[in-house]
Parts: sequence; structure tokens; C-alpha cells
Amino acid sequence: MSRIIVVGGGPAGLMAAISAAEAGSAVTVLEKMPSPCMKLAITGKGRCNLTNIAETRDFLKKFSDCGRFVRPSFYSFSGKDLIAFFERNNVPLKTERGGRVFPVSDRSSDIINALLGLAKKNGVRIITGAPAKKLVLKDGAVTGVEILSGEIYEAEAVILSTGGASYPSTGSTGDGYKIAGDAGHGLTPVRAALVPVETSGDSAKKLQGLGLKNVSVSVFSGGRKKAEEFGEMLFTHFGLSGPVILTLSGLLAESVSAGEKTEISVDLKPALDHKKLDARILRDLQAHGRQKMKTILKNLLPKKMIPVCLSLTGIPPDKEGNGVTAEERKKLRVWLKDFRLRVTGCRGLDEAIITKGGIPAKEIDPQTMASKLVKNLFFAGEIIDMDAETGGYNLQAAFSTGFVAGLAASKGDVH
Ligand SMILES: Cc1cc2nc3c(=O)[nH]c(=O)nc-3n(C[C@H](O)[C@H](O)[C@H](O)COP(=O)(O)OP(=O)(O)OC[C@H]3O[C@@H](n4cnc5c(N)ncnc54)[C@H](O)[C@@H]3O)c2cc1C
Repeated sequence: MSRIIVVGGGPAGLMAAISAAEAGSAVTVLEKMPSPCMKLAITGKGRCNLTNIAETRDFLKKFSDCGRFVRPSFYSFSGKDLIAFFERNNVPLKTERGGRVFPVSDRSSDIINALLGLAKKNGVRIITGAPAKKLVLKDGAVTGVEILSGEIYEAEAVILSTGGASYPSTGSTGDGYKIAGDAGHGLTPVRAALVPVETSGDSAKKLQGLGLKNVSVSVFSGGRKKAEEFGEMLFTHFGLSGPVILTLSGLLAESVSAGEKTEISVDLKPALDHKKLDARILRDLQAHGRQKMKTILKNLLPKKMIPVCLSLTGIPPDKEGNGVTAEERKKLRVWLKDFRLRVTGCRGLDEAIITKGGIPAKEIDPQTMASKLVKNLFFAGEIIDMDAETGGYNLQAAFSTGFVAGLAASKGDVH
């Protein structure tokens, strides 16, 4: 029976541990935090968007440059396999907008408990508070792992699944980059991805805490429209966040760092074209002609947006509907279709949903997740230079590569 050490008890590490143990190996997980899966617990705002029902071909398009790399592991363990895996283990799942899959309970703890339960059932030993420091190597092959206390755990294979470097408070502090680097691996420079953005002016600050659903958000770079996304966004004290903004953040970061004037345009009424919206505003003004604008706008906007709208359009809050001029009506319509915010930068790794960069995919065999440089070493999850859009794709990548790495390590499937 081969001994396998998994370094990092996140979703990739636990799935690797389960697949290796089910294949007959004696598996130990070394986790540096007091409990495993601390990041998994906060995914999807605590609801865990674990995968997406998109067909594998469409799924792979959601990955930036690494679609080819992740393809073999997705074909070995697809989104459908993951859904079946959790349903088999008594976690009923549901599908929401955009094909996003969540536990019916809306609790990420159900996903974590299912993983921990299966690991236990298969005899996996999980040691918490055990930060790995380095790999023990002999003749170009890994023979174990040394933890910070100096203790050495011997193994026939090691799976590195320490995650990326974003949200370090969850334990993902990029340790694996150094551990793999000391053993000869390279590193594609890491940076924040799927990250909130900062805006100038005080509009976002005034609207902080407000979430918008069903809005259309466009990116303008140097005056040209570069992309458009439909969905949810959120105002924060520094700028913007929420699924649509996170998805557009890569493009926004590129545009800002290229020195282009970078703007977000929010269409608050995407279901109405200018003509229909004008008719709608006119109807509201006529129906409530004796009311003040700050009251009439309650029909069109969330309460928190009304002062911002009136200030940016220059319409006096106490003006009665009857008194609104054609010019003011036009300003209001244009603003509702094109609320502009200037983007000045992106937040850092501390607030990024994922890390771009990592162990170069070309140094890893995509069929087995085995290192091409160090014998008996495998990788799984976000430590690898692979990243995708929001929608459950990143967790699926962690689970798929974890599954493959565990199985291959157990079989002694080295490159
Ligand atoms: C706020 C937030 C929300 C998210 N929501 C979603 C979502 O809904 N859907 C989705 O698909 N993705 C989501 N993600 C991304 C997703 O969480 C990650 O892609 C995924 O957790 C990566 O899994 P992993 O196992 O590779 O790494 P991690 O989950 O980062 O796990 C790595 C583990 O390794 C441990 N570790 C690190 N160094 C050491 C060491 N030296 N020794 C021992 N252990 C170590 C860490 O403590 C950690 O437990 C979200 C991310 C964040 C931050």
C-alpha cells in the first residue's frame, strides 16, 4: 500500500485525498490552518457555487489560457461527475441562473462535511496546524514532506495543493510556490484576479452596500466599448464589486495599467430602449405631477440611488413632476441608461477571488497532474497557473485536478 501526503486541505487537496484513498493508498493530509477548507467555507457568499452545468466544451472556454491544460482532468472528472459525487453523498444540489450549482441548503458547510465524512470513511488522516515547509528529495524524487516543526512525513508520493495567494486569511498564502520552487519548479508571476475595482468620485461611496440585479454593465477603455456583461453588481466604500464586476476585472485592470481612460457604464434599465424608457418616465411624471422628483423616482430606482441620480443629473429634488423640462427628462433617461463611473485601479490579492499565475502548466502532465521535473510529485488546484471566470468553474477545476492527481499518485503514475 503506497503512502501519499497531500499538502493543503482545501477542495483540491481533500478530493485528491479521497480519490487516492479510494484507490487503496494510505493518505495523510497536512493542513496548516486549525481546520481544513476555510476558503471553501466562504465561497459563493457561504453558499458555495461548486460547479456549473455548462457542457465541458463551453466550460473550458471560461478558462483564460489554460483550457487545453485542464481538458483531460475535466474529461476524467466532469461537472456532471461532481454533481453525482455530492448527490451520492447526501448533498442535494440545485441549479441557479447562469447554470451555477449550489447545495439546496445554501450552506457550504454541507459540501465540507461531505468531503470530510468521505475522507474519514476512507481512512484519510487529516493533521491540522501542520504547515509544510519543504519537500524531502532524494535522487530527483520526492520522498516526504518536512513541516515547520522539523518533523518529517515520509511518502511514496506527494500532492501539493496549497492553493493560490489570495484571501490569505483563509490559509492560502502562496507557500506552495516556494515549496515547489525549492524543488526546481518555476513560477508564472502571480497577481489578483476576479477582484473588486476602485472608482473615483464619491458616487460609489454614497451607494455602498447597494446591490443591483439585472443590470447591463459595459467597459469603456479609451472611449471605446470593450465588453458588456449582464447580471449583478455591488457598490462598496471604495468602488464596485459583485459577479459582473469581478468578471470584467481582468479587462479593467489591463486598461488601467495601459494608461487608458477606463470607465464602467451601468445600464439600469436594460429591458427598455431609449424610446420605451422615455415613455415610461413621461407616464410617471404625468401620473404623479404634483409629487416631488425625489418621491417620483422611487418608481424607477432603489431609494439609495435617488440622491445620487438627482445630483448627477442636476434635477432639483423638490421639483414637482409637472415642472420637469424636456431637457431634464432627457438627462434622466440618458443617466438611467449610462451611469458612468471612472475606474482607477483594482484591489489587491487580499480581496481577490482567485490568483492568476502559479506553477507553470507546462511543467505538469495534464493527464496525471504529475510534475515533469520532480518524480513522485503531483499538483492540484489553484496552485497551478490556471484560472477561470466566476460561475463555479474554479472550484470544479480544483475538484477535477484533485481527483486526477489522487488517482495517478495512488497508481504511481509518474511522468
Ligand atoms: C471569497 C471567495 C469566494 C469564492 N467563491 C467561489 C465560488 O462560489 N465558486 C468557485 O468556483 N470558486 C470560488 N472561489 C475560488 C475558490 O475558492 C478557489 O479556487 C478554491 O478554493 C481553490 O481550491 P484549492 O484547494 O486549490 O485551494 P484553497 O482552497 O486555497 O486551499 C488550500 C489549502 O492549503 C492550505 N495550505 C496553504 N499552505 C500550506 C502549507 N504550507 N502547509 C499545509 N497547508 C497549507 C491552506 O490553509 C488551505 O486550506 C472563491 C474564492 C474566494 C476568496
